[in-house]
Amino acid sequence: MQELPDTAVPRAVVVVGAGPSGLTIARELERAGHLVTVLEEQDTVAGKCQSVTVDGHAFDLGGHICTRRYERVARLVAELDVETERTTRYRVLDVERRVALRQSMAFLRDGALQRYQALREREFPRIGEPGLAHSARALAAPVGRWLAEHGLEPMAESFGTGYTAAGYGYLDDDVPALYFVKYAEMTGLLSDGRRELLGHTGDFTLIGGFATLWRRIAGELKDVRCAVRVTSVERHPGGVRVHTDSGPVEADDLVLAAPLDRVLPVLDATDGERDLAARIRSNAYHTTLATASGLPEDAFYFLDRHTATREATGHCVSYHHRYPDSEVRTFYSYGRPEDVTALLREDVERLGGRLDEVHLRRQWAFMPHFGSADLADGVLDRFEALQGQDRTYYVGGLPAFELIECTVAHAQDLARRHFQAWTAP
Ligand SMILES: Cc1cc2nc3c(=O)[nH]c(=O)nc-3n(C[C@H](O)[C@H](O)[C@H](O)COP(=O)(O)OP(=O)(O)OC[C@H]3O[C@@H](n4cnc5c(N)ncnc54)[C@H](O)[C@@H]3O)c2cc1C
Repeated sequence: MQELPDTAVPRAVVVVGAGPSGLTIARELERAGHLVTVLEEQDTVAGKCQSVTVDGHAFDLGGHICTRRYERVARLVAELDVETERTTRYRVLDVERRVALRQSMAFLRDGALQRYQALREREFPRIGEPGLAHSARALAAPVGRWLAEHGLEPMAESFGTGYTAAGYGYLDDDVPALYFVKYAEMTGLLSDGRRELLGHTGDFTLIGGFATLWRRIAGELKDVRCAVRVTSVERHPGGVRVHTDSGPVEADDLVLAAPLDRVLPVLDATDGERDLAARIRSNAYHTTLATASGLPEDAFYFLDRHTATREATGHCVSYHHRYPDSEVRTFYSYGRPEDVTALLREDVERLGGRLDEVHLRRQWAFMPHFGSADLADGVLDRFEALQGQDRTYYVGGLPAFELIECTVAHAQDLARRHFQAWTAP
């Protein structure tokens, strides 16, 4: 049986990565009385929830949209006293005809939702809970095959455009059903009732950019170090030593809140870790922040043809026009970095607009995930079984799914499960 950490004394924990997962678990552990050091290689915290200011407005380059399923995030937002606002509406943009349409609600027709709910109850009742391992085997099949097998094609019509537009891959690219179903669940549209969250009945985001939340959380933590390069990690029975370019950090336990495949080169990795890391896949997904005129405005647009098939890789899949008094937009694309800007210019022109100035482009290794065969073979169970082995814990999109609420919930639960609260006598 796995030995739980000795919680008679506060634990010293080193967390590698200061994105949402790392900062959430650091906060949870510090509030439970433990001593936490967070190491981040970038100059700033927030990971894939970066925000920048252009034209006097805060633009989110990554994660920022919260649905009414975001209860853990809402609690953090309330505790940290960050202001929220409604998000811009969503529209599907017919690229050929240049018309904006509402998203399809096909899943509500012909009993598709009821069929889905019955299947959920029978085969993956825990899909709404934090983590993915509990539902992985039931949903290992490639999504196209899984939808057809269960007569759930209307779900692809309703959620496929948004799913692909948001970076999770093309539905004809063999992505396992697990990730599509988790995404669809997290939209909040598959569950009953329309709850209110922080006074919003629909999706919301943070005024001033999503990074505000993570900066505030980091500001309350005792020891967050940015611009630190981890050079090697040594784990031994007595503790963990993390060597960095500014000296070693000693701790009882290690939390990897950065993708395992990224950390592997500096880790004294076990065979199990090496095997898992070799199986991780991710999508090359890009955010381009640019000024563009003459395009449809005032919505988050999902481009229909460019999200329909992987053949369109490289073309812009979505863009967000957030502030009515600014022509700055965030554009999203997959593909090779060298193609993205040229294809974006072409796409904008085809839509009748003009790309005036590119302010910046960010490439993400988006949505770390496993393939269908690995899921069917229990890869996520093996991953969960590693939690706590060799004094090491793993949080982030790989075990949790690449959405803020999912990573926050998983990180909080992991801390509560593995580290008892400690109060000074
Ligand atoms: C374009 C885009 C749009 C998105 N939109 C949404 C959205 O609207 N809603 C939503 O819920 N989610 C969205 N997401 C997803 C969300 O941003 C992620 O799920 C979330 O940021 C994951 O948090 P994390 O801490 O697990 O990982 P990350 O945010 O990736 O943080 C990992 C951190 O680890 C650091 N790191 C990596 N390697 C090392 C190392 N060797 N040493 C030290 N530090 C290291 C990284 O620099 C980073 O700061 C979006 C993401 C992107 C990219």
